[in-house]
Amino acid sequence: MPYEAVIGLEVHAELLTESKVFCGCSAKFGAPPNQNTCPVCLAMPGALPVLNRRAVEFAIRAGLAVNCEIARLSRWARKNYFYPDLPKGYQISQYELPLCLGGWVEIEVDGATRRIGLTRIHMEEDTGKNIHDAHSDASLVDFNRCGVPLLEIVSEPDLRSAQEAGAYLRKLRTILQYLEICDGNMEEGSFRCDANVSIRPRGTRALGTKVEIKNMNSFRNVERAVDYELKRQAQALQEGGRLVQETRLWDPDREVTRPMRSKEFAHDYRYFPEPDLLPLVVSDAWVEAVRTTMPELPDDRCQRFQQQYGLPAYDAEVLTMRKDIADYYEATVRYHHNPKALSNWVMGDVLRILRERKLDSAFVIHDWPVAPERLAAMVELIDSGEISGKIAKAVFEEMVGTGKTPVQIVEEQGLKQISDAGAIVAAVEQVLANHPDKVAEYRGGRDKLFGFFVGLVMKATQGKANPQKVNDLLRDKLSA
Ligand SMILES: [Zn+2]
Repeated sequence: MPYEAVIGLEVHAELLTESKVFCGCSAKFGAPPNQNTCPVCLAMPGALPVLNRRAVEFAIRAGLAVNCEIARLSRWARKNYFYPDLPKGYQISQYELPLCLGGWVEIEVDGATRRIGLTRIHMEEDTGKNIHDAHSDASLVDFNRCGVPLLEIVSEPDLRSAQEAGAYLRKLRTILQYLEICDGNMEEGSFRCDANVSIRPRGTRALGTKVEIKNMNSFRNVERAVDYELKRQAQALQEGGRLVQETRLWDPDREVTRPMRSKEFAHDYRYFPEPDLLPLVVSDAWVEAVRTTMPELPDDRCQRFQQQYGLPAYDAEVLTMRKDIADYYEATVRYHHNPKALSNWVMGDVLRILRERKLDSAFVIHDWPVAPERLAAMVELIDSGEISGKIAKAVFEEMVGTGKTPVQIVEEQGLKQISDAGAIVAAVEQVLANHPDKVAEYRGGRDKLFGFFVGLVMKATQGKANPQKVNDLLRDKLSA
């Protein structure tokens, strides 16, 4: 492509506080419509906002994690616009003086590390939600979300491809989840993203006309929407057309972006300082106190997993992508020290089950049926030769389905591995006796038949024979 992509992302992350940012209503997702409301978040005349200290603390945590400067004084502003889900007719946000300035997030794409700059992180309140009833013509409004604390994380236009945009978002979400300040659930809308996309001829500096894309509720959709938009813009320019600054909606069914409205500018919102709230003053002591509560972040943990457990970089990356999974993995290793085998199980079967059950937001692994000590106990059974790796697959499925311990399952179902040479010899001899022609071929030089014999012996023992012993005994008998 003769053009270069210029992409900046605006991420909205709902903070996991108990209550809303300017009132005492619950900020929890999923309550019956309009249950979590009060005069403040419903904008009754005379009601005044009171700032939630915890929300500020969470925002400072985010700022420190992505290398921002924490402003010692920031200011609340009113962003004025009309929409039915915004009862005050304005949103309390931060404009000229945001809480967090600068900073960066490091991403890795195709083996290369890039530092993506951040412009700012500011705090604001979420809006309510319009619900369009498909069966009648009614539009309903649910104000439960109105006033839930939000971070808006604005990146510099440093991203150069849809792939980089996806990597940046995943990294940012991982960091927020590690901080335990946002659950990162894109489907429930607690982690949302708008993309500013433009192109310019390669080698030039001036920015092209930018288009804002909305309505992307998964990483995959962000990548596809950005990709589509880059191609659309390049084609328009190549055909001699002009681009307009506008907001477009991603249509995930038709996989296209559609014009929504012409892009608004900052002056359209008539920002002015919020007269009902004092400027936000953050002391050095407060910032330092928050700094002492910071957890180990994903990049550091990834490095440590490689050093402490001798894991390949790939394993360490996959395991540390989510804090709950990294915690789970470390717990299993404490019960049974076979880091690589446990890594294989967590990256393979555990993640597969989480995907199948759509347990793909943070923190859910805590209540799933296979507790760390059980997975560890199962790997211990493999390592001590009690069960084969193949039988372990069945034991694992049974643990997921029933919540039983691996020892219980192995005993109940008689799955113990046959390591007794006598029993295996009998099976080996039977298999060889049944296939004299294949034995002759093997001895004549068709080495490949060895696997065929192994398969038959395993089948004859219902998969319970110790595979190493089967190999040894077969080799013995065949070379006799
Ligand atoms: Zn309220």
